[in-house]
Amino acid sequence: MKLSSYFLPVLKETPSDAEIISHKYMLRSGMIKQSSSGIYSWLPLGLKVLKKIENIVREEQDIAGVNEILMPTIQPADLWKESERYEDYGKEMLRINDRQNREMLYGPTNEEQITDIFRSSIKSYKELPQLLYHIQWKFRDELRPRFGVMRGREFLMKDAYSFDIDSISSEESYNRFFICYLKTFERLGLKAIPMAADTGPIGGDLSHEFIIISQTGESDIYFDERILKEGDQINKIDYSEDLASHVNKFKSYYSASDDKFNREKFDEIVDRKYQMHSKGIEVGHIFNFGTKYSKIMKANVLDSDGVEKSVHMGSYGIGISRLVGAIIESSHDENGIIWPEVVAPFKIGLVNLKPKDEKVTKVANELYLLLNKNYEVLYDDKKDNPGVKFSRIDLIGIPHQIIIGSKASSENVVEYKNRKTSATELIKISNLSNFIDKLNT
Ligand code: ATP
Ligand code: MG
Repeated sequence: MKLSSYFLPVLKETPSDAEIISHKYMLRSGMIKQSSSGIYSWLPLGLKVLKKIENIVREEQDIAGVNEILMPTIQPADLWKESERYEDYGKEMLRINDRQNREMLYGPTNEEQITDIFRSSIKSYKELPQLLYHIQWKFRDELRPRFGVMRGREFLMKDAYSFDIDSISSEESYNRFFICYLKTFERLGLKAIPMAADTGPIGGDLSHEFIIISQTGESDIYFDERILKEGDQINKIDYSEDLASHVNKFKSYYSASDDKFNREKFDEIVDRKYQMHSKGIEVGHIFNFGTKYSKIMKANVLDSDGVEKSVHMGSYGIGISRLVGAIIESSHDENGIIWPEVVAPFKIGLVNLKPKDEKVTKVANELYLLLNKNYEVLYDDKKDNPGVKFSRIDLIGIPHQIIIGSKASSENVVEYKNRKTSATELIKISNLSNFIDKLNT
């Protein structure tokens, strides 16, 4: 992509209404534009990152054996009246009347809708378990939308739902998502800690939030620091293994966020030297709620004795648009964003420092054509001065920079800069392809 034909409305000034670094950098680097409070348009650079995150989340759901569907954003109020959540949900729900004056709503979540889909077609234990997910925009009229996409009103979520014949198999589905979440966040370059979360009136210990450590997070988190090491092995776990034993290892370390935290228990179980307290960002939440919705909405199946049973359910969310901000919070410096390779909007930033010099520009154009065949390249071919170019390419966080200056035509060398380490090195143009292939590890 040539920068001269790319829509990248970079801001020089830091917007005054942005409180945290990810929000500032997302606005400054032209990733998003606010439409109204907590509602954003995604511009090309932001959308590219959002899609990459979405795809990783999708791939990991697919690997775990979850089926993708797509439910609408607008739901009929009747379903929510049936589950008796219509009144309870209160002002966070955006309620709409259509032209026939039917009550509709913009979905804040999809338990009712998925239960309705399930009950209309699945009638026997033989067809269980069922694991379904979708990736769809949600609307919650949050009391305090803030921190940009981190607490928006309209936001993109992956939400999955499990249906099982009893609580034992329902726990197996829960464990599958537990492991899947750790794998997903690991792939995104994040260290997410599973934390026991409040299950409300349903009880039990089957609710976990996945939280990444960040000083700008909204949750207070308390954990045994040894849980961080446990996560290092997550890639090796296969879904055919006994997942309960893996999940139990994580559960054996104390970890809890605000609501569930108990100081006495923390001191009793965890040696002082391992105790950690920090702020964190919730990026995912999994929840087993048994027959809460199936009972009231009559989602029944016949068990092996021909007896009708309420199906056992769970729901599993990941905040995809929140993750864009969360990744920036955990990967940036004073000059801008530092994208982890897997979600970077472009792999290579090619910068022509001498756009008015014909010889240099010829080399730059050729390198662009060459590299663009195999990699996602953003080619800064604009006529700005070097200072503007350097700060812009740092700000938008592309992992690998190739800087083309006068030496490109006089000595056939270009400069490589690693955005993360700031290490630079001179590369012979004849070696450049080879050099970049090797970065691809
Ligand atoms: P929170 O406590 O942050 O409000 P929640 O418990 O309401 O989250 P869930 O209903 O479990 O969240 O939603 C699943 C995921 O969706 C959350 O883990 C979070 O990553 C994301 N999410 C929830 N609310 C928002 C929001 N307002 N803006 C962006 N992402 C959100
Ligand atoms: Mg909430």
